[in-house]
Formats: sequence, C-alpha cells, structure tokens
Amino acid sequence: MKRQPAKTYYSKVSSPYQWSVGETVGTFFTEMRENGRLLGKRCPACGKVFCPPLDHCEYCFVLMEEWVELPDRGTVRAWSRVEHYYPGMPYDLPFAYALIQIEGADNCMVHVLRFTDLDALEEGAGVKAVWKEPEDRKGDIFDIAHFRLG
Ligand SMILES: [Zn+2]
Repeated sequence: MKRQPAKTYYSKVSSPYQWSVGETVGTFFTEMRENGRLLGKRCPACGKVFCPPLDHCEYCFVLMEEWVELPDRGTVRAWSRVEHYYPGMPYDLPFAYALIQIEGADNCMVHVLRFTDLDALEEGAGVKAVWKEPEDRKGDIFDIAHFRLG
C-alpha cells in the first residue's frame, strides 16, 4: 500500500475569557492604577509581607487582613534575559523577565526589566518601577511599564 503524504491542518482557536482577581488583588491593582503605589499584606502569625498580596499566608495558612504600603523599588533575585524575538513578545529587545523582591516584602513579583546594559545585571541589583502615565493605567500589573536599575 502506498503511503499518503502527511497533511497538516492549520487553524486558530479563540477563547476569550474574564477572570475575577478577587478583593485582595483587586485592591492591589486599584491602588496601582489610582495612586501609583504598591500595597502588600502582612501575616498576623509570622509577620511576613507579601507583594503581590495574597488572601492567606502561604506559610501559616491564616487570613491576612493588614495592608502595608511599600516602596516601588526592590531587588532582583533572578532573571531570564530574552535574546530572540518570539510571537507576542510584549517588548522590543533587550529585556528580561525577573523575580523582583519589593523592599519590605518577603516574596517576589514577576515583572520585566528594561535597560540597555543587561550584561551588567547581577543578582541583588536594585531596581525601581517605571509607571505608566496615570491616564494610561488600566488596573493591572502592567500599570508598572517595567523596572529599571535604580
Ligand atoms: Zn504567616
């Protein structure tokens, strides 16, 4: 029996959806959009501060209700530099995805580093948020356009 050539079918699947971020993350995003400030939540049992905030401490599993205002600067704990273009890339090169520990927080947030000298980046580097203009903020994590050294 003669084998037929393999065939490929190309298609796109569209699956638009909405996701409720809940009261804690909603408050966090609203504060970012309205006032350009970062908030965290402090655990009443262990005292750890989380930014981005969580409803419950991931160590003690207790409800956290105390909000704390945090600076919009932090420390790079890890990063992955993007070297090549890929479809849907959110920024022009060069940039890096990074785990950033906001000053005063015990966890890290994932965000983007953008500056020209990524070769000089080291673990422990200090970074500062670069906010979008107030009229361009939408109430999501990208109200911080990116972080830069500083
Ligand atoms: Zn705790």
